Amino acid sequence: MADLSPQSGKTFVVEHLDPELEEWSSCEYYTIASECHATGAQFLLSSVSPTLKLSEKLQRAKGLNVETRSVEDIYADKKDKVCLLDPAASKDLNPQDGDMFDIFLFGGILGDDPPRDRTSELRKKGYEGRRLGPVQMSTDTAVRVTRMVVQDRIPVEKIPYIDSPELIINKNESTEMPYRYVKGNDGQPIMPEGMMDLIIKDSEKGLGDLL
Ligand code: SAH
Repeated sequence: MADLSPQSGKTFVVEHLDPELEEWSSCEYYTIASECHATGAQFLLSSVSPTLKLSEKLQRAKGLNVETRSVEDIYADKKDKVCLLDPAASKDLNPQDGDMFDIFLFGGILGDDPPRDRTSELRKKGYEGRRLGPVQMSTDTAVRVTRMVVQDRIPVEKIPYIDSPELIINKNESTEMPYRYVKGNDGQPIMPEGMMDLIIKDSEKGLGDLL
């Protein structure tokens, strides 16, 4: 059961919307939990079916709180304090939203290109929505950017980004990730630990299918 006692930091909720929990999502959720833990924020992974098996690594993540209930049930009496991060919202998130909202809600879905607008499943529940600029991000990037805006008070357009980075798989192959990432201090896109290995594994699988 998640610890929902009041905290000084904000609460970041990812509502898991996929029937399975793929390795890609596990990797993203692990990173979100660890980063929230390190920055004094609360992280809640909601709507996790009791039959869903969480990887051992994810279960060990510091700062991970898992809930079988959906965000609607958990925050039924606090709906006006919940902000949905929604690529289709008409207003961009700004630092003052940190005073208005306590809970920031994200769709736990893998990015798809072109986007299928699965965030609409949360939008139709009637939460106030904010956009993080016009480009699609992975869920961990969206949480990272939201934290930078509402906790560190950096305007969303001042954050350094890298769009559609080209990742080198090996000397003959590279792959483009059609999303927006935060640029790290080393000039590279910030990605979850283990993500590059998954990308390489997937591209080898793709090649295997062709042979
Ligand atoms: N392709 C998906 C988006 C997946 S991204 C779709 O069909 O909706 C996963 C989550 O990250 C989204 O549900 C949203 O909460 C957040 N997100 C990603 N990019 C965003 C953006 N530009 N603005 C606001 N939220 C964003």
